[in-house]
Amino acid sequence: MVNQKDLKVFKDMLIKEKSRILKSITQLEENTQQAARGNVSEGAGVPTHIADFGTDAFEKDLDLNLTSSEIELLQMIEESLKKIETRKYGICESCNKPISKARLKAIPYTKYCIKCQRAQEKTERKRG
Ligand SMILES: [Zn+2]
Repeated sequence: MVNQKDLKVFKDMLIKEKSRILKSITQLEENTQQAARGNVSEGAGVPTHIADFGTDAFEKDLDLNLTSSEIELLQMIEESLKKIETRKYGICESCNKPISKARLKAIPYTKYCIKCQRAQEKTERKRG
């Protein structure tokens, strides 16, 4: 079982991870805004080729995908932090059994124990 000392460690890990993700999301947003504004102010006189436009669009797509997965991660971290407050942290959402400490150390925002995670991955593969 997860004790108070462990909880503090996991909380620190979650907060660190959260600030890292927030930083990268902010950076992505800034990059996207800069790309949207164009490089009119700096680097004036650089011609826009059609090939360049294609690359830009491709990169923007990548940014968007990254942002949505980062946001998903952020939500999982927020939920885990809430669970620490309500003392439900480290309990599998599926079978209500404690999640192993080793697993929490690897993925502090996980919702499921390794058994349930594997079972879920199997059903997802069947569906797909
Ligand atoms: Zn479980």
